[in-house]
Amino acid sequence: MDMTRIIVAIGSFLIGAILGSFACCQVWRLRYKELGKKSLGKWSVCLNCGKRLKAAENIPIFSWLVQKGKCKSCGAKIGKAEILSELGLAVIFAGLGWILYPEVVNIMIHLTPANMIVYPILLAVFLAAIVIFWTLLIYDAKWQKLPTRLLVAANICAVVIVGLSIANMALNNTLKLDLVTYLINLAESVAILAGTYLVLYLISRERLVGSGDWLLALPVAIILNNPMLALVVLFLSNFLASIYGIFKQIKTGKKHLKIPFGPFLVIAFFIVFFLQNELNKLFLWL
Ligand SMILES: [Zn+2]
Repeated sequence: MDMTRIIVAIGSFLIGAILGSFACCQVWRLRYKELGKKSLGKWSVCLNCGKRLKAAENIPIFSWLVQKGKCKSCGAKIGKAEILSELGLAVIFAGLGWILYPEVVNIMIHLTPANMIVYPILLAVFLAAIVIFWTLLIYDAKWQKLPTRLLVAANICAVVIVGLSIANMALNNTLKLDLVTYLINLAESVAILAGTYLVLYLISRERLVGSGDWLLALPVAIILNNPMLALVVLFLSNFLASIYGIFKQIKTGKKHLKIPFGPFLVIAFFIVFFLQNELNKLFLWL
């Protein structure tokens, strides 16, 4: 067992928990702004009594568990979204730390200009996109809406990733070799995932999918940059949303339910991202 790799994964878990807490805070801040409510200010506060949280009440995962999900001052329930956001992103970051570790080590051994300058920025923008996807997931799950600001931010990250990937090729002198394949994969991924949602949105006039869904599918497709994986995300997200829809229908007895689609798109993206090596092997075999 590689001890360093395990330590990196544990460190990533802790960073993920902090970012999960941050994501949930941003969700509430955006919601308050959207509803025209008074801003929550710079510090973390209880949404019920408004009291500023002390450092000990602000530790991701830990504080929630110790306080049993309640505010220390007024006893109001904090809600499950907070703990789920912290735990979920912690697990995702631990997974990312684990799978990206060998790649990062390899980059650090070969200190070329591309590896020293472009790669760290690429990694940072990619992780920023992950946190934004996560924030969109929580917001959409809570209020069936994808905030425009976050969609714009996710798309900016995706465009920057494309630019950096091309810069990487240029610095490694593989532009002639790789650029055309890269752009074809990009165009196909976007057409399959974002294109399908755009068409569904336009022909169903928002009955099937909302206007935000294709704008979320766009950065997901760009980051995947693989038409087969984009296809799997398309099927998997619909499959998960359908199963959820059926369960919800049975539970509530209502026939026409509005199901937020964003969370399933993000969950499908994470599943496919983590299983991409296995999936690529499967495609070769097919
Ligand atoms: Zn309180």
